[in-house]
Amino acid sequence: MKLKKGVRALSLLLVMALMTAMLVPAVSADKINYNDNLSIPLINIEGTTEKLETDQIKADLKIQSTIEKYDLVLFDIPKIRDDIFKDGELAVCIDGKNYSMTLKELPVNDKGVNPDTHSYTGNLKGVENSNSVLTISKSVLIASIILNGEEYCIDSLSATDSSGNKYHIEYKVNDVKIEGNYIYGIEDYLAHTEMSDEEMRIRNEQANIEEEEKASRSTAYVRILVMTDAKWIYDEPDWQVKAQNIISQANNQFGRSDIQIYLLATYDSSKAGELATDAQNIVQNPLDTFISHVSPSYLNSKSADIAIYLGGYDCTNPDWGVGATYGYDSNNATKKRYGWSQMADDPSPYDAIHHDRTVATLHEIGHLFDADHQDGMQAANQESYNRAYQWNSGSITQSVVWAPVLRSTSYEYSSNDYNGDYYHNNALRIHQTRNVVASYF
Ligand SMILES: [Zn+2]
Repeated sequence: MKLKKGVRALSLLLVMALMTAMLVPAVSADKINYNDNLSIPLINIEGTTEKLETDQIKADLKIQSTIEKYDLVLFDIPKIRDDIFKDGELAVCIDGKNYSMTLKELPVNDKGVNPDTHSYTGNLKGVENSNSVLTISKSVLIASIILNGEEYCIDSLSATDSSGNKYHIEYKVNDVKIEGNYIYGIEDYLAHTEMSDEEMRIRNEQANIEEEEKASRSTAYVRILVMTDAKWIYDEPDWQVKAQNIISQANNQFGRSDIQIYLLATYDSSKAGELATDAQNIVQNPLDTFISHVSPSYLNSKSADIAIYLGGYDCTNPDWGVGATYGYDSNNATKKRYGWSQMADDPSPYDAIHHDRTVATLHEIGHLFDADHQDGMQAANQESYNRAYQWNSGSITQSVVWAPVLRSTSYEYSSNDYNGDYYHNNALRIHQTRNVVASYF
């Protein structure tokens, strides 16, 4: 995704980049809530959700300024956990309508990693095409609920009330204002820009042999190291729960019968300080800077096949967008294991909201398995079926590897079995490459 505005005042950017804490502007108290006159929040998890008046909160809530409408809430997290553990189900009221949300635990973390943080996938009983992905720790709840083509989000804030309970916000993705301009024509799947058509052809032939050898094995388990820098940890102390929910959404898609992958995540902040001290290089070239700090032998020492850097800095280099990877096609055995996606706000329509972060991260992870954009990027004269797809489901929707990233409700990879066709089948490509990626380490 290359979404940058092309021209910007460099001096201002440098000043911004060097600021140790770039905070999202605080929101004024007269922000519009849902159901203004009622005490019922947008998403009411029965008996556990308390809606608050934002103007009575003293703390700086640091809410992304483009979220035009939201409800501020406190949850009774222990009760929600109990209800899920006991019944595998939650009674919820969304936008004034009652539902029963079924929840099934989703494998996300590697053995022994964050055993108290659970992720679930499910749907709203009796509602076709509904889907929810929810992650809950002992104090934080992150959720994406897709219902009637609309996405509802629950996200945590860094501020807490006087008893230490985390404030959360609830909003519809459609109520996030789109601002800034996309830039077209710049590639984030960097292997394509590195290699000639002939090199790509040879690379693909070699890859085909490797894939055929490994294609027959069923579900692949791919170990992913999820890393960040001190800036994101400072801005959002709940980063691990947020990151786990992003990987959960990836697994929600990767678990489908035509893909069959589980990412097993480990969250690693041990390079966070080191990355932050190199912020000047990160804002110019986040991916290569990340690779320079996290060597392949480090990945191997963590038994990781691939690594994704969820970056807390806004990359200010106009040649870079909000995510990049050399990806599966790279001839460089080292570089193809890494991806970067930006967690910070961007001058483009990309925002520091959970939806955009999830799209960007699933997009880059897709490239690590050779899922490609809508144009397809195989070499000349090669059949290209690993393309992203766009369809009309009442509104125009793009699969997750579409470029540039739009505010689509879909986290899906294109597939001949659901949204896509023979020539737009990212799912098939990911399925074919999965055991190769699983054998990087
Ligand atoms: Zn891309």
